[in-house]
Amino acid sequence: MVFMYLQNTIDTNFHDLQHFFISTLSGKYDGGIESFLKIIFVKSRKDCRKFKQNHLQQVRNMSVFIQQHNPMTGTIEWGIQPDDYDYKQEVARSAYADMLHDKERNDKYFEGLRRSVADLRMKGKEVHVLDIGTGTGLLSMMAVACGVDSVTACEAFHPVAECAKKVLTANGCAEKVHLIPKRSTEIEVGPGKDMERRANLLITEVFDTELIGEGGIETYKHAQENLLTPDALYVPSEATIYAQVVSSEKLQYWNRLSPVHRKVQGANNDDPLISIPQSVQECAGAAAVHDIQLSQVPQDWITKLSHPLKVFWFDWSGRKKKIDYEETSRVKFSSLAPGSCDAVLMWWDLKMDQKGDVMLSCAPYWAHPDLEGKEDGTSEHIPWRDHWMQAIYYLPPQMVSQVQEGKELTLFSAHDEYSLWFNVQENQDSAISEERPICTCGIHIVNSRSRLGQMNDPRRLNTYLRILEKHINSDSVCFVLGDGCLMAVAAAKLGARQVYVSESNDSTRRIMQEFVISNAVQDKVTVTHMNYADIPLEQVIAPGNITFSEPFFSTSLLPWHSLYCWYLRNSMLHLLAENALSMPKKMTVWGVPVQYRDLWKIRAPLHECNGFKMDIFDSLIETASDEADEKVEPHPLWEYPARALAKPQPLMTLDLGGAPPEKAITVSGSFSLTGTGTLNGMALWADWDMTSCPEDIISTGPVKPVVVNEYISWDVYTQQGVYLMKENPLIKPDLSQILQYYVSFCPNDGTVSFDFKFNKNI
Ligand code: SAH
Ligand code: ZN
Repeated sequence: MVFMYLQNTIDTNFHDLQHFFISTLSGKYDGGIESFLKIIFVKSRKDCRKFKQNHLQQVRNMSVFIQQHNPMTGTIEWGIQPDDYDYKQEVARSAYADMLHDKERNDKYFEGLRRSVADLRMKGKEVHVLDIGTGTGLLSMMAVACGVDSVTACEAFHPVAECAKKVLTANGCAEKVHLIPKRSTEIEVGPGKDMERRANLLITEVFDTELIGEGGIETYKHAQENLLTPDALYVPSEATIYAQVVSSEKLQYWNRLSPVHRKVQGANNDDPLISIPQSVQECAGAAAVHDIQLSQVPQDWITKLSHPLKVFWFDWSGRKKKIDYEETSRVKFSSLAPGSCDAVLMWWDLKMDQKGDVMLSCAPYWAHPDLEGKEDGTSEHIPWRDHWMQAIYYLPPQMVSQVQEGKELTLFSAHDEYSLWFNVQENQDSAISEERPICTCGIHIVNSRSRLGQMNDPRRLNTYLRILEKHINSDSVCFVLGDGCLMAVAAAKLGARQVYVSESNDSTRRIMQEFVISNAVQDKVTVTHMNYADIPLEQVIAPGNITFSEPFFSTSLLPWHSLYCWYLRNSMLHLLAENALSMPKKMTVWGVPVQYRDLWKIRAPLHECNGFKMDIFDSLIETASDEADEKVEPHPLWEYPARALAKPQPLMTLDLGGAPPEKAITVSGSFSLTGTGTLNGMALWADWDMTSCPEDIISTGPVKPVVVNEYISWDVYTQQGVYLMKENPLIKPDLSQILQYYVSFCPNDGTVSFDFKFNKNI
């Protein structure tokens, strides 16, 4: 199996990666491309960082591929990293901090352990603990505190194992915990070997949002057979996976492209402006799990068709039920409402003790056991965590379209070693696909979930279409700047003389061509693999009088990364008429000082966990974060509630009509902090002024006016920039506190950098 380590890959596209592998490894690798792509898909978002670390050692043995992303040249490059690559950064970026801030998780592990130790003592047994994947050593220290006879800990990720050694020493546990810096599956038992004897109590936390995505099945099976006594107790002892079938057009925005309709006033216009090729309509969609903070999804987006259904159950000891690498299940339900079976929502719970008195649930608030019977529960009433979220699985398109309330249906569920998938059956005999869905159209491979959402977003589509209608006429020679921008088709349909689309990426180009053909605009749209800069003027019908960018590039991680369109435009001036219209015309970076309700936990020091000192871990994170180049990281802020502590302000505007400036631009100013709360960060975004008309602004920020002290509603189809402050001052409006900002734009590499300083009583 080839494991791939991705740096800085949040919500990126995988085409380049696939391409890279096919070209680099073809002939050398015999496992089939699917098997490792699956793994990569599984760890495509932040909670899967743990998975990444889990396999880093294997990666290391095979040399490390590091993704280097340059938003301004728009390229993703793959480099092979030297052996002495510094993994500290990865520890810092990892989910460990947020996981260790998860008090409910820590407390329930401790409680499950205490009770299980007591169970063994009651039977008069010695207690020999094995902690698989010890991380910082937390669970091993808990075991020591329970007064067990011996503790063995193992950890596959070496930088963390090093950290565990120091944390154990600082807490006086180094002597009591035998630490093995290995993957559990490499451990040998016997006199003089890694472990002298088998353990009779296993404590481990190797779960991800999909429960099994971190390789738990193999870890448990191996431990049962090789590392534990037949009567061993397990903490946790069991896990249950829940699934809830829902109908939701809005969730489908992240998965399925809908035809684009033009709003024609008064007319009943069923004829789409952009229709979707058959191959795209029929595609089963991406296999990748969509992990999400489900409690943040507006309730009016979803209609529940089933109650939460138990679909899989794992007895980690394997005694009541053997753990299988692959399993399927069928659960009947009758539809709670009319609707289409669009998606399955998934979460799981863990039985932490042996009896089931200590349960840990990852349910969204509406299904959370702690809120049972409470009608007015919200996400605020349940523990927050980012290392485990909930997941959405989109159902294949053709299966069950519209169902009536009360309709008897069957939910089909399947898992393999690392992942889950689902389908819905009308009755037991109706044929359904039991196969894991695989994207056959390419759209789901080339585009991230949020990009698909953007492509369906009525707010964006209406603005683009309005602008194009206003500016496109039969003289228009239009150059589209972007990746997979379907507005090229719209421009042709709206009557442009000629539209040019440059798609250097093979898959994106093929998909674009399919759209061009199925919309019958072949004579109007030229799709080329060449960069505009390399196309001589003679090859185009006439100098371009319009350049259009959404703006979106698959390499843009932060909103302002799409400034690439500015650079692109300036590389192709030879193809443009002198007065060619440039859309977008301007970009403005905006910011608002906020109190993040929970997101601060991903970086905040722990100081201690359950009475154990964690300063060593804190300083590891802190030094690594200080060394990190990026102070601003992308997050989909609609998933992470933040209250405004001041009015938002524009920080810097760049005029995209002319060439980028010669010299760096720096601006500074300040926010008056008029809210009340703890200032722990800034939220940053970009507004793209398409035409200099206020109604033509495409914002990647708030979608409703921001009110100081209230939670902000964000655009759900982009990630915003998050800056977390080290010092978190208390803000009160009568103290006249301000936050100074410094924003620089460096034209050489197109980077925008930020600095913020808090000042009291000015
Ligand atoms: N037990 C710690 C850390 C949990 S994170 C805590 O509860 O705070 C999971 C850790 O397990 C990661 O550090 C990962 O590298 C490690 N891991 C996962 N599977 C493993 C295995 N089979 N053998 C050793 N380490 C493993
Ligand atoms: Zn597809």
